[in-house]
Amino acid sequence: MNTVNMNKMSWVAYRDLVAATNPPVFLPVGALEQHGPHLPLGTDALLSAAVAASAAERINGIVAPALSYGYKSQPKCGGGQHFCGTTSVDAQTLIGLVRDTVREFARHGVKKLIIVNGHYENQWFITEGIDLALRDLQPNTKMRVMRLEYWDFLTEATLQSVFPDGFPGYALEHAAVIETSLMLHYHPELVRLDLIPDDGPADFPPYDVYPLNPTWVPPSGVLSSARGSDAVKGEIMATELATHIAAAVTAEFERARP
Ligand code: ZN
Ligand code: MN
Repeated sequence: MNTVNMNKMSWVAYRDLVAATNPPVFLPVGALEQHGPHLPLGTDALLSAAVAASAAERINGIVAPALSYGYKSQPKCGGGQHFCGTTSVDAQTLIGLVRDTVREFARHGVKKLIIVNGHYENQWFITEGIDLALRDLQPNTKMRVMRLEYWDFLTEATLQSVFPDGFPGYALEHAAVIETSLMLHYHPELVRLDLIPDDGPADFPPYDVYPLNPTWVPPSGVLSSARGSDAVKGEIMATELATHIAAAVTAEFERARP
């Protein structure tokens, strides 16, 4: 096992490794958000961290602790903010967390930073945090940042085999087959298959209203069924994600700087 968890290293070991090997450093980002009665609140950060760790293992990377609070849960992709336990931050807070951590990694001498997002709603605020950090750092930084949503690395062929009746789309996949199967692979002790609800797929209108209307969302918080989830699907997807993310990191950072 080649993965190095940054929070378990001494500062001197970290400093020396960064200086000697110019390793890719992975920063997972997630959320604390309801995921139905069968998955834990920390699912998004647990999965982004697990995916990042297994990609990092393949290419001698370092994994930083996940940013575990995300932007506000939206009804159409996370169920919404009305669920007990869902604990979210304002956009400015998430932007600030990303901006500050990116700047710190640059100060350490990290040149290859990969932000692995596991919560749909975070995407543009992570992007903004990266953009502001690089603006802070220019023109004296050698750091480049890759941002990704881990699910985008699943291939069509895998989606077809995991969803023989048709893929509902990533937004409605909240607490459904992909996340449940990946959790069965990485953290089986945290999954309650006996509590999978029969809700979904949710049928949303093509607009939003504010304040958000909780009756649009199934009471369980699940947007499409998690039935059909299993650890074998989880392992297939986990292997594909780790392999493809590791390959993308290697290819992108080996490419000559423009
Ligand atoms: Zn999730
Ligand atoms: Mn989420």
